[in-house]
Amino acid sequence: MSKLDIVRIAALSDNYIWLVHDPESGETMVVDPAEADPVLAEAERRGWTISAIWNTHWHPDHTGGNAAIKQATGAPVIAPAAEAAKIPTADRLVMEGDTVMLGKHIATVLETPAHTAGHVTYHFADDAVAFTGDTLFAMGCGRLFEGTAAQMYANMQRLAALPPETSVYCAHEYTLSNARYARVAEPDNEAIAARLREVEKMRERGEATVPTTIALERATNPFMRAQSIEQFAERRASKDVFRG
Ligand code: ZN
Ligand code: FE
Repeated sequence: MSKLDIVRIAALSDNYIWLVHDPESGETMVVDPAEADPVLAEAERRGWTISAIWNTHWHPDHTGGNAAIKQATGAPVIAPAAEAAKIPTADRLVMEGDTVMLGKHIATVLETPAHTAGHVTYHFADDAVAFTGDTLFAMGCGRLFEGTAAQMYANMQRLAALPPETSVYCAHEYTLSNARYARVAEPDNEAIAARLREVEKMRERGEATVPTTIALERATNPFMRAQSIEQFAERRASKDVFRG
């Protein structure tokens, strides 16, 4: 099976849209199109035709491009069943354990609620790739808009258990702010200190810090590293008001 081509498209102020192409089948899907124009332009530039749109959750900065991409390409929208009412463009609704194909590549749907009530993660186990939307970020996690600390803690534990080499494609460039908070949350963690220095350099050069990996997150993500729901909740609340 050929390797997936995964292209990062920066959108809005800090969103990342992922264009995912399977060379063998020629199929191309887009994860969380905040907007349509840069996605259609990048696909055209590469000679790819978008065959599906996959949403992790309903927020407009993840679904805003659905309608226009559908209009332009006829691509169906795959979206979490629990958020069907909030994603009127959805064509196929998915839930825990469902599989979604890109050519012969198989993604399993993991329900990862808390940022939104129906948020899902798409995990390509054979490719060691996960699209985590606004659940797991590089050195961070999503805010708890529609769920509890216990739910997000469980998400962190579950994602931490994926193979360490798994590449994590999240939907925002929040790493610098997350790294500064991580340094405060775990002042004695040398891996966090080193990654903060690295992230500072990368951002100064205007480079993206995503994708990350499960191994790197296990070493440096204070939310994934929280030892209990209570510690997770305390860290999440502190980060909500953190000004680094
Ligand atoms: Zn969101
Ligand atoms: Fe978002």
